[in-house]
Amino acid sequence: MDKLASFPVAIPSETIEQIAAANDIVEVIGSYFSLKRAGANFKALCPFHQEKTPSFIVSPSRQTFHCFGCGAGGSVFRFVMEYEHVDFPSAARKLATRVGITTVEKRGAADEDRQYETRRKLLKLHAEAAQWFHENLIKREIGESARRYLKRRGITADIARHWQLGYAPDEWDAFGSWARAQSYDARELVVSGLVKTKDESDSPQNQTSNAKPQASYDRFRDRIMFPICNDVGEVIGFSGRLLKDEEGVAKYLNSPETPLFRKGNVLFGLHKSKRALIEANCAIVCEGQLDLISLFQAGIMNVVAPQGTAFTESQARILKRFVDEVILCFDSDAAGAKAAERSLDALLENDFIVRVVELPQGEDPDSLVRREGKEQFEKRVAKARDFFDYWIDQEIASTDLNSMGAKIQAARKLAGTVSRVHDPVLRGEVINKTSARLGVAPADFKSLLAKHSRASSSSVSSDSPETHVSPSPRHDIAILCLLALRDEPARNFLRAQKWREILDQVPDANILVRILESELQPDDAASLNAFMATLSPEEERLVSSWLMQKMPSATETVVEKWWEGISQGVVRRRLETAKNRIKLPGLSPGEVVNLQKQILDLQEQLHDFSRPIGGADTKS
Ligand SMILES: [Zn+2]
Repeated sequence: MDKLASFPVAIPSETIEQIAAANDIVEVIGSYFSLKRAGANFKALCPFHQEKTPSFIVSPSRQTFHCFGCGAGGSVFRFVMEYEHVDFPSAARKLATRVGITTVEKRGAADEDRQYETRRKLLKLHAEAAQWFHENLIKREIGESARRYLKRRGITADIARHWQLGYAPDEWDAFGSWARAQSYDARELVVSGLVKTKDESDSPQNQTSNAKPQASYDRFRDRIMFPICNDVGEVIGFSGRLLKDEEGVAKYLNSPETPLFRKGNVLFGLHKSKRALIEANCAIVCEGQLDLISLFQAGIMNVVAPQGTAFTESQARILKRFVDEVILCFDSDAAGAKAAERSLDALLENDFIVRVVELPQGEDPDSLVRREGKEQFEKRVAKARDFFDYWIDQEIASTDLNSMGAKIQAARKLAGTVSRVHDPVLRGEVINKTSARLGVAPADFKSLLAKHSRASSSSVSSDSPETHVSPSPRHDIAILCLLALRDEPARNFLRAQKWREILDQVPDANILVRILESELQPDDAASLNAFMATLSPEEERLVSSWLMQKMPSATETVVEKWWEGISQGVVRRRLETAKNRIKLPGLSPGEVVNLQKQILDLQEQLHDFSRPIGGADTKS
């Protein structure tokens, strides 16, 4: 749901229905992997969990999918969202483009309008800027030294094209004057972060032969440009590497925070590596863009690079959507070890399995994969050590275990990190390992841990962990949902009842309310898909499972029977409450009269239920 909220515009429901109607789900899913016919449906191995026999079913008549193994399921939109890891608007646009529908997106308030406009313009500017930098590198004379540099680093023209690498010339206003000529105004350029105003504090000393800086000047000068993309592949920022290393000047420079670019929310390379990540269920994390590109080009594709040196909480959360295991592949120097350690908190908070590849001194993934090749590198990855083994070694290497004071200090420090491990099994294992290495009793080490947990528990974020298993509502509600979704007369019957009033008093009936209040048409697959687009992923899973279930026979009797059971339960509960309240001391005569009336009325209602209902679980 956060995916929907992050996008300031909405696609009108008519368009969603139109897109659903034009995209046959069997064709769409069949374009990703092959489906086998199984009776009226199609079957495949589920792409969302590991399995040996297919339990992933696609229904051409309902235009939905459902996996009986892991419970994944929903509309054609949900499939694209989950398979491609994109948000709803992107999935809808993708499907629209597939069948040639133009999505006219309706906007909300004026403020949202403006935000949307800013975003749209910035995306356009970034796309064009990336192309301009790229052409400097590929075909202009100005890019000669950059081309030579990349060649030395083993980056071919093909690779440069594949990653749209570029070059920002060694001039104060080359980009700015090009962009103004494309009629971008000065303010937009400053907002994009590609141009800085003169009063911003980074006026470098290295004046080139060019004229004096203008009122504004290019942020990136004489740098190899790496476009940074969001996970659907749109350029949202840049990282620029200095061409000639110079003292006092940062080797890497990133775009500043802009309305498009939040450094801590982006993983470099994700738009290209996400399929490989899902397949491997493991991400190799390296520091630099060049490391990532070299690994990727060598055929090791499950790689990402955080922008900066350590993982942020939100990067970890993004990565968790794709993999359960992370292999840190940072430089072997002290900075690399620090980065590994600083990444750990965010990773542990998200229950990753974390391992570390120890690189030989003076090597980085880029140099190593070039020298040793893919297979050797993969062997190193396979041998990656559990983070805690690596880290206990690091800590203990600098501790004099004969000194009690040093030992206690090391134990305290280790306890701080161990206390962040959520998983009880892993935690127990780490406690045993650490205490054995330190030569302290596990119980003593645990007592240090308890202090830490108490100290940190107040600061732990209240984000509830994402739950993937959604409990089905109780049986009577589930049956009515199934009927209201799929059977026109049953749906009409329910909509003619006082359903809002009754369901308001029934726990977990929210999904039934959603089904009844929507305008879906049971026999129209497109309208079902459009309805599902309004649900949370958990609700959508439930709905997709109901759509695949066998229908009960004699739906009219069934719907009446279950509805009566539910309403009777509600009336009975109200009656009980009224009877209890009238016994309370201190009621005014008016209140007593009111309650008496209520009780009579409810008793009458109860009496009106024509047939006694058996079997329905309506106890409160
Ligand atoms: Zn599955």
